[in-house]
Amino acid sequence: MRLPIIAGNWKMNNSISESIKLIEEIKNHVLDKGVEAVVCAPYTSLNEVKKALEGTDIRLGAQNMHWEESGAYTGEISPAMLKEIGVDYCIVGHSERRQYFNESDDTVNRKVRTALKYGIKPILCVGETLEEREAGEEEKVVKKQVLKALEDVKKDDIADVVIAYEPIWAIGTGKTASSDDANNMCNFIRNIIGNKYDEAAKERIRIQYGGSVKPNTIKELMAKEDVDGALVGGASLIAEDFVSLINY
Ligand code: PEP
Repeated sequence: MRLPIIAGNWKMNNSISESIKLIEEIKNHVLDKGVEAVVCAPYTSLNEVKKALEGTDIRLGAQNMHWEESGAYTGEISPAMLKEIGVDYCIVGHSERRQYFNESDDTVNRKVRTALKYGIKPILCVGETLEEREAGEEEKVVKKQVLKALEDVKKDDIADVVIAYEPIWAIGTGKTASSDDANNMCNFIRNIIGNKYDEAAKERIRIQYGGSVKPNTIKELMAKEDVDGALVGGASLIAEDFVSLINY
């Protein structure tokens, strides 16, 4: 039985005080103990959000990290720094990072491996562009991203990896994949894991869908067999919406 996981990606939103206010608005309304809720806050808010989450079951996530522990990487944040704050999850390879900051499959792979080494669970984002989907290449693209990102990741670590299938054309656009399309791709990814590792890894790995998930679409999505959760941008910034997503 896989524990459903609903993660909010705040992106470059929320000052420290806004972050605390949002946590205060959601933290006492999370009803479902059978769902893991995660908030991925900007670096500047992580420490205060961690404190604000004390006494709750809501987990803390970062949105990015470097793959080295320390060194001459001006402007970067290391996994050791995140671990010291008490970060549980880190989004890796979000399409906005791939698109605006030139993240490659290779750097995504390094980050996934380093996150696992530091006991931080990576939320590995994969997904195709609209052009790739229209050309019928979505499975080819996603397969390459998944296999490259998991290169040299051991079978024992796979239970700590969350994969987020996020078709780029559905992120922040209001367009969403149908629940059947989302499920089909999550199933396709699950089979990739089965072929690379084994049946146990295939059954264990959690796979989310992300792309304009809203309170009115979550129930149908979560009813699908291979969808274990959602990675949510816009709706995670609105307390009422995020609460209803977690309590779907
Ligand atoms: C995201 O940022 O990962 C995302 C899915 O955003 P949105 O829900 O706004 O489409």
